[in-house]
Amino acid sequence: MRLALEKGFFFPSSEIYSGPAGFWEYGPLGVGFRNKFVEVWRRELLRKDGMLEIDGSQIMTKDVFRASGHLDSFTDPIVKCKKCGSIFRADRLVSEKTGTLVTEGSSEKELDDLIEKHLIRCSKCGADFGGTKKFNLMMSVEIGGDKEEAYLRSETCQSIFVDFLRIFKVMRCKLPVAIAQFGKSFRNEISPRQSMIRLREFYQCEIEIFFNPNQSDVFQKYDGISKNRLRVCLDGKKSQNMSCSELLKKGILPSQMIAYYLVLLQSFYEKTGLDMTRARFRLLSDAERAFYSSFAFDFEVETSMGWTELVACNYRTDYDLVRHGQTSGREHSVMDGEAQVVPHIFELSMGVDRSIWAILEHSLTKHEERDVLELKPYLAPIQIGVFPLVNRDGMEEKAAEVLSKIRKDFNAFYDRSGSIGRRYRRADEIGVPKCLTIDTETLANDTVTIRDRDSMKQSRVHLDELRGILNTTFLFPD
Ligand SMILES: [Zn+2]
Repeated sequence: MRLALEKGFFFPSSEIYSGPAGFWEYGPLGVGFRNKFVEVWRRELLRKDGMLEIDGSQIMTKDVFRASGHLDSFTDPIVKCKKCGSIFRADRLVSEKTGTLVTEGSSEKELDDLIEKHLIRCSKCGADFGGTKKFNLMMSVEIGGDKEEAYLRSETCQSIFVDFLRIFKVMRCKLPVAIAQFGKSFRNEISPRQSMIRLREFYQCEIEIFFNPNQSDVFQKYDGISKNRLRVCLDGKKSQNMSCSELLKKGILPSQMIAYYLVLLQSFYEKTGLDMTRARFRLLSDAERAFYSSFAFDFEVETSMGWTELVACNYRTDYDLVRHGQTSGREHSVMDGEAQVVPHIFELSMGVDRSIWAILEHSLTKHEERDVLELKPYLAPIQIGVFPLVNRDGMEEKAAEVLSKIRKDFNAFYDRSGSIGRRYRRADEIGVPKCLTIDTETLANDTVTIRDRDSMKQSRVHLDELRGILNTTFLFPD
């Protein structure tokens, strides 16, 4: 967090006015890193699988969320102190005070009973609470002069569902088809904490796979991945590696298609530099699943804030398309071969901000003399540092010349202050993979020192070879 704040990865929104919690800004390094993260998502999931990408609007009409069930069911249980008026999330309060996990599906009555049984009182003033109530997390807005009621979307996937019929037709799709979106969503969280983990305004990368439920048993792309192993956690405690064929045989995964997409997701995260020994697919219990979901794994990672969900992998059944069909009066079915079907949906719903947090945390390595952000070169927001050894004898001019040459293709920065050792350490801390030093030899024979972040090894290369070397360094691996 210190690094993120001091180096401009991210910081609180409206900071000079102490703005409300749960809103964060990405600074220059954060934007650079996030853009690259999303580009790897596009590469490893969207392009690899031939998915379609859309970009929907963030404000959507009330009917969307009436149909989706969010206006009725997208709630958190809250309690309000009778004396000082402080509001707490009831389930979290009970979990913290009793040390036992309270599932998201607990009823108001169950929570009231637990609060009574454990004599839980207001943490601020010690007074009693009124009963547990449901608080809706949707953020509303008013549109135009007559103030039409609308909402900021609480998940990007709703645009995908309501656009489905058009996309299917104009893109001449066949089932199964996957439609994806990167964009912002909004949730009116009660007392958001944990910085980038629980936000009121946040980025999602969502993928919705539409398929014919009668033909999901055999999935062609599965052939290549049946032996791949997924790291799963079935009892909420132990993690184990199991092959897809084993998971299917034991009935833990419902279909070959779902196995394939979980493998695709896992291999994407491997390429982001996340420590996969601290990641797992956790099977959710009936009580934990979202109200529309019939089967769900959470892809989770362990960070300093405990195990955190990065991706919800939900089998949403035909819930969404049936509901939007009923509410809009337009049946959401399509032809699959000879049959007219309402597609079922499997989704990979990824939290981008928390993924970025987890990757940064897993990448930050403390060495004796230096902190190194060991980002994959293709994810580094700043790729190259350019340093004149000393600020005289024409080295600065030469460094400026080198910088302007590589800037067209690479994100490079210039640093002339402090000893060369200090400059290397500053670059290490923000994950710059390569640093170039311009010295007297550069002036004499057009060679520069190129220093590697991880090995700290230095070698001398001619300026004519530089572009080729840097291209190889930042190439995405196959
Ligand atoms: Zn109170």
